Amino acid sequence: MFVDKAAIEIKAGKGGNGAVAFHREKYIAAGGPDGGDGGDGGDVVLIPDANMSTLMDFRYKRKYAAGNGMDGAGKRCSGKRGEDLVIRVPVGTVVRDRATGAVMADMSACQRFVAAKGGSGGWGNAHFATPTRQAPRFAKAGLPGQEREIVLELKLLADVGLVGFPNVGKSTLLSVVSRARPKIADYHFTTLFPNLGVVYAGEGRSFVMADIPGIIEGASEGAGLGHDFLRHIDRCRLIVHVVDASGREGRDPAEDFDIINRELKEYSPVLASRPMLVAANKCDLLDGESRARLERLEKRVKEAGMAFFQISAAAHQGTEELTRAIAYRLTELPPIATFAPDYVEPEAPAELPDPEINREDGVWYVDGGWVERLVENVNFGDYESRMYFDRTLRERGVFDRLEALGVSEGDTVSVCGIAFEYRR
Ligand code: GDP
Ligand code: MG
Repeated sequence: MFVDKAAIEIKAGKGGNGAVAFHREKYIAAGGPDGGDGGDGGDVVLIPDANMSTLMDFRYKRKYAAGNGMDGAGKRCSGKRGEDLVIRVPVGTVVRDRATGAVMADMSACQRFVAAKGGSGGWGNAHFATPTRQAPRFAKAGLPGQEREIVLELKLLADVGLVGFPNVGKSTLLSVVSRARPKIADYHFTTLFPNLGVVYAGEGRSFVMADIPGIIEGASEGAGLGHDFLRHIDRCRLIVHVVDASGREGRDPAEDFDIINRELKEYSPVLASRPMLVAANKCDLLDGESRARLERLEKRVKEAGMAFFQISAAAHQGTEELTRAIAYRLTELPPIATFAPDYVEPEAPAELPDPEINREDGVWYVDGGWVERLVENVNFGDYESRMYFDRTLRERGVFDRLEALGVSEGDTVSVCGIAFEYRR
């Protein structure tokens, strides 16, 4: 099955917590703090894999998570780093942020993309040994890893893309000029997924040609198959527009030419402005009437300043001239397009807000915001930690706010459930 688009959820590992521990040795009464740091959480990393050609693996598995960092331990032992999760994707996969559609990475242009970064491990108490706070009993918690929803979108890497109505002979042409063996049959939409072929054009020149399912009217608005597959020629350096010259299906080639060009433009003005050359196929079937129609097409193509070729893919007529002209034209064109990232990391959530202060039945309640994290990080069984707690409340203006609200000496203050008597 050919799958060329998939949305997945990725989650990097959480950082491990820092440890609170103290150095202990025989005959040494009070050792210093030696709690180690938590390990960083693992990253979710994308790596291009040349052996993959579809995103099928992502159809059934939607959630991907890297390993968490281990907590730190005594003796300054750092926690083990969480294991990275490596996700292999086909070369040419474009990674987008699901919410905004912004391009995060083009896996044809990068060898390794950290799609979600693991959280940092928390510091153990060994970090907090200072002359004034010799025995800190607190350590920091690890931070959460990044979590994202991303869309993987395969855009094939080809120099030349064949476009045209269904059944005009695109697959036949590819099979004649390369060793690719796309399915060929006389009904519409035989080709259900893109095919790539390497075309050797002599003098050591070669290029990659892509055959995509036919475009039909309204494809750019999502009707039929064409729309989904146009993305595979987004990168192409040159478009070869294949037209059925025989008018065998009662169509006018000049009209078909215009319709397809309109579709391309609707889908992407950038793509529509790519260099194009036109191959009128099935010229083995020309009769008087179709010959006249073909002349009209030729006139229109030349007016548009494009090169025009009459070929018969099935009879191998004119195909060599065509491939030589393509190879020559490619030498003048810029390399295969890559997509520049335009994703901007949303602003990190601002500093946690100040807590709310409420008075009820004579008790001052201080809740929410940064004090919650403070309370989590403090060991209240320890004098040093309580001092740190007290100092932080004071330095960050909680006491000033209480004063402004009319707190008096000896009132009960409850900070996230930790109650104490207020002392200035
Ligand atoms: P696609 O839908 O554009 O890929 O068209 P196909 O390559 O599948 O061809 C559609 C039909 O047209 C098949 O029956 C082919 O054998 C036939 N065909 C392709 N090229 C030629 C040609 O140059 N001359 C004739 N007479 N038939 C052709
Ligand atoms: Mg086909």
